[in-house]
Amino acid sequence: MEKVVYLDNNATTQVAEEVKIEMDKFFSKLYGNPSSMHFFGGQVQKYIDEAREKVAKLIGAEPSEIIFTSCGTESNSTAIYSAIRLFPHKKHIITTSVEHPAIFNLCKYLETQGYRVTYIGVDENGMLDISEIEKAISSDTAIVSVMWANNEIGVIYPVEEIADVCKKKGVLFHTDAVQAVGKIPINMSLNKIDMLSVSGHKLHAPKGIGFLYLRKGTPFVPFLIGGHQERGRRAGTENVPYIVGLGKACELAYKNIELENTYVRKLRDMLEEGIISKIDYVRINSKNALRLPNTTSVSFGYVEGESILLMLSEKGICASTGSACSSGSLEPSHVLMAMKVPMIYAHGTVRFSLSIYNTEDDINYLLEVLPTIIKRLREISPFGEGKPIFGIDSCNNHSHNH
Ligand code: PLP
Repeated sequence: MEKVVYLDNNATTQVAEEVKIEMDKFFSKLYGNPSSMHFFGGQVQKYIDEAREKVAKLIGAEPSEIIFTSCGTESNSTAIYSAIRLFPHKKHIITTSVEHPAIFNLCKYLETQGYRVTYIGVDENGMLDISEIEKAISSDTAIVSVMWANNEIGVIYPVEEIADVCKKKGVLFHTDAVQAVGKIPINMSLNKIDMLSVSGHKLHAPKGIGFLYLRKGTPFVPFLIGGHQERGRRAGTENVPYIVGLGKACELAYKNIELENTYVRKLRDMLEEGIISKIDYVRINSKNALRLPNTTSVSFGYVEGESILLMLSEKGICASTGSACSSGSLEPSHVLMAMKVPMIYAHGTVRFSLSIYNTEDDINYLLEVLPTIIKRLREISPFGEGKPIFGIDSCNNHSHNH
């Protein structure tokens, strides 16, 4: 493929060149085991310590509050299992109806194991009502888990306020911050969140590394039990090159957070405005909610999102219908369903997610090819009843933001 325009950064990101360079020497030069007695292993430890400091700085935490894991999913499972093992008599979990499968499917599984799960719903903008969480908390609640930012629609949830509610009620609070960290400023010294999950590959580190933030003093039961690594909180020989890479990626993210909220946001807004002005029967999901600067979820009425993706892909443009984990299924995403997006639109939803590596040219290219794709698909659209007549001029300048 000659031209690749990558607009799927919520699925994964490119590894930053600086990160790759930093990792390199830990494969075949500094490859010792940090737990070894000899100098060769021992010398590696200081690089892990440095990485932990960089990671902690990005989120305003203490280095000792960072536990390296293999991914966001592991961090999430670690948090939830820790809570339910700490309080085996408590059989209730509170989460939302818009979580990533890494929490959502875990909760569905726990329901088969005797747990009761409350899924807090959202309104048509994807927002939730904190008072519903407060009402749902009972003496049987082991943990509340609410994502910081949604991977599909980019909505940012008021997790710091939810943490206050949980603290008041004496319940542990976890947030899946996989999509938030590196995109919006986060300072854990200013809130009461007990646990927070992060994944490296969403912020220009490689796949297969992440971390769990565990607030000092929070009771905890490890998920992986074995060696004494990570101060006994996560057994398994440290993935040194990836930990170092994550440290570098977090250092870069700290520097680039401003760019995410200026440059990237501007590109995203340009994309949305371009789509609205060029294509009819379009809705930008959660446009009026507080959102991540890099994400937009666009529903094109009377077309299949999967067909749009395939045609974009032929042109070298990468986007997604929602969470990477749910693509491949023809059901509209559970997030859009929870928001009650009308079916005729939900089916035609595409998520574009940007990064600092995107350019105005990328957006212009998308805006050049997309109207023709939508027009073609609408002409052959299977949506029958109530379908407007899509003729030659269907992609006009009137946008219907229903
Ligand atoms: N949580 C959210 C919100 C995500 O977007 C993702 C990845 O798509 C994950 C968790 C899973 O992260 P990982 O792929 O590192 O397991």
